Amino acid sequence: KLSQRLLEIAKKVPHGAKLADIGSDHALLPTFLVQQGTVPSAVAGEVNRGPAEAAQRQVRDANLSGQIEVRLGDGLSVLRAGEVDAVTIAGMGGALIASILNAGEDKLTGVSTLILQPNVGEDIVRKWLRSHGWHLAGETILEEDGKIYEILTAVRMKPEDEGDAGLYADRLLDGLRVTGETLLQMGPYLIQNPPPVWYAKWEYELDKLAMIRRQLDRSVSGNAEEKRSGLEAEISRIKEVLECLR
Ligand code: SAM
Repeated sequence: KLSQRLLEIAKKVPHGAKLADIGSDHALLPTFLVQQGTVPSAVAGEVNRGPAEAAQRQVRDANLSGQIEVRLGDGLSVLRAGEVDAVTIAGMGGALIASILNAGEDKLTGVSTLILQPNVGEDIVRKWLRSHGWHLAGETILEEDGKIYEILTAVRMKPEDEGDAGLYADRLLDGLRVTGETLLQMGPYLIQNPPPVWYAKWEYELDKLAMIRRQLDRSVSGNAEEKRSGLEAEISRIKEVLECLR
């Protein structure tokens, strides 16, 4: 059975798309999508041999070798340009997702939808999308087994589109001016209509930041003071948003 997280990602994949799932591990997502009839075919990319072999076994056991091709290689390098319409990259850090997209940008020709699920560093992914011609079309947040996940869906910007500058422009939320930096961090859609799990995520992030601050309080390193004031600013910025929206 698919996890709630993968199920939510699966829901975002356009019907009939040719899919590439990069960092597919056991190829659970493409297997599910092909079995459901959502996608006719898929590529499961894996950089590591162990997971690639597990994916291969999974595909063979499901009798889907005709529809799902497991390819061993780094990021989008396993694809030919124009081969797929949708790409999923899930379950890794935002910095890694952005670096995979960046390194393989030429392979995204013909891709119209990206479905990305960073475990951390969502802001890095949003920044990459914003500056590479992708419109952030939706955000989902969910909790499973005590972990909170965000799923970002992006569609390719058309030449006539104005870009996402408007989406990330400073805005007033319940009387509070929210900056582009906060929107990149906390999510321009999520912040507008935050579900309870979003508050839970940011309360947890505040706890983590407070812990780092306590560690800095004990540190004697030269730039501890500078780091501390940056951290203080971030903590108050997040607190202010939470207090204002509650
Ligand atoms: N996508 C699945 C999911 O969300 O459940 C698996 C997530 S698993 C934690 C991350 C997988 O990404 C690992 O199997 C790892 O080998 C793979 N991976 C990491 N870096 C990669 C890269 N540059 N290219 C392809 N796969 C990568």
